[in-house]
Amino acid sequence: MSVLRRSFASVIENKLLIKDKWVSSKASKWFDVKDPATQEVVARVPQCTQSEFDQAVSSAKETFKTWRNVPVLTRLRYMRKYLDLLNANLENLAGIITRENGKVLADSRGDVIRGIEVVEHTLSFGSLLQGESMENLAKDLDTYSYRHPLGVCAGITPFNFPAMIPLWMYPVAAACGNTYVLKPSEKVATTCEKMGELFLEAGFPHGVLNIVHGGKDTVDMICKHPDIKAISFVGGNDAGTYIHQQGSHYGKRVQSNMGAKNHVIVLPDADKEDAINALVSSVFGATGQRCMALSVIVLVGETKSWIPDLVAKSKTLKVGPGNDPKTDVGPLNAAGLKERVESLIASGVSEGAKLLLDGRGVKVNGFEKGNFVGPTIFADVNVNQKIYKEEIFGPVMTIMTVDTLEEAIELINRNPNGNGTSIFTSSGSSARKFQREIEAGQVGINVPIPVPLPMFSFTGNKGSFRGDLNFYGKGAINFFTQWKTITSRWKEENSEKYKLSTAFPTMK
Ligand code: NAD
Repeated sequence: MSVLRRSFASVIENKLLIKDKWVSSKASKWFDVKDPATQEVVARVPQCTQSEFDQAVSSAKETFKTWRNVPVLTRLRYMRKYLDLLNANLENLAGIITRENGKVLADSRGDVIRGIEVVEHTLSFGSLLQGESMENLAKDLDTYSYRHPLGVCAGITPFNFPAMIPLWMYPVAAACGNTYVLKPSEKVATTCEKMGELFLEAGFPHGVLNIVHGGKDTVDMICKHPDIKAISFVGGNDAGTYIHQQGSHYGKRVQSNMGAKNHVIVLPDADKEDAINALVSSVFGATGQRCMALSVIVLVGETKSWIPDLVAKSKTLKVGPGNDPKTDVGPLNAAGLKERVESLIASGVSEGAKLLLDGRGVKVNGFEKGNFVGPTIFADVNVNQKIYKEEIFGPVMTIMTVDTLEEAIELINRNPNGNGTSIFTSSGSSARKFQREIEAGQVGINVPIPVPLPMFSFTGNKGSFRGDLNFYGKGAINFFTQWKTITSRWKEENSEKYKLSTAFPTMK
């Protein structure tokens, strides 16, 4: 079997990538990955052993000794090749994502493309990795700072973006001169294996990227391993808080992007058709399983009369398997998630919200076992209901009404999450007031999913983020490098020599 390419059988046994080998794990525990539309088992993911994990870290540590010295432009030449291979394999990757995650093919393509854009941005790191310098800070004395890589970095990723989120991590780390140990979500591990194959094919030295598998046990190995210098995490609040605490306790740099509850304000002066299409797409795209979905609609003043239009538009969406090009809303990723979303819908009903569209029990011909929940809409939602307090992460729109923009801003600022928010309006002054006063990290103005492109960073805040250095963009350069500052003195021939003195030197 070739090191680079493996044929994916109908049920894939996910392998570990340790240096140059795809290794069959000796695991005693395995996670079954089921096609969300059919429940057919498509992959088995091992809970790797401690010894396998240690080998992956050793491989990364060993490779770091040479990789850190590879000139930046050479590193970026590998990255350009990788970019070409990712683009050439776009359809293949999108197919794998739809199979293991369930999202519709067009959305799976978007998942890969938004990740590719991050890889594309690494090609400009030659400039971004430059340091700082100043000469003649004192007689004969110059100071300059270099950005140095950290060493072995590790990434822990969620199920909802099988390509994009891993691509926020290891290519950026590697472009900065680090080596990597990636632990993909045990629910969607095959996409990362395919991207790992392409990474080897691009010619990166073996050991720059290593892939391990598993659940919390592997996460604990990452948090504790003394040779791992930094951890990037994206996922839910429980795991993210735990990993931030554990990783920090063991002395690592940690960035942790977590859960969300994103609100969107709709003002009466908004373009109605534009806003309704954007809101319905945002809430129900990816079956509501995007951390930037605008799931809480805050209708201001007379826009409450738009509710029937929101319901009518949502009813036009077709529920079905992700690989049917006519499908708008695919299945949820797992049967347990379907049960959870349905029980949250039931709680909304019992806690007094008004159920205007009920997606429970939706039938998809030929896919009776799929994890389908159709578009669901609640009005009369208040802050005490579970459907407001919890991140539903499913196709559920919750509608609240207020009288003024000020009230809407206050409502959002009281929410503990701060991933994203948006406003729909044609008023520049309302938009500017919103942009300045709103407490959330990613703000949209007439935009349904305000995720920044990679020349900026992903800047969720409040309860949605722990750490202080953000993913991709300049934030990631800071996360994946550390400074070394050199102060040098080269005396001119006629310069004075140091006089013996125990006083702290000050600049003259
Ligand atoms: P998750 O937290 O269940 O899993 C994420 C990763 O953490 C996985 O690799 C998993 O193996 C590991 N993990 C799970 N439970 C753990 C535990 N108890 N201890 C240690 N590690 C654990 O998240 P998910 O269900 O895969 O993804 C959905 C969540 O991710 C949502 O809350 C969503 O908002 C969030 N998310 C956030 C962003 C962001 O950038 N803020 C982006 C995408 C997804």
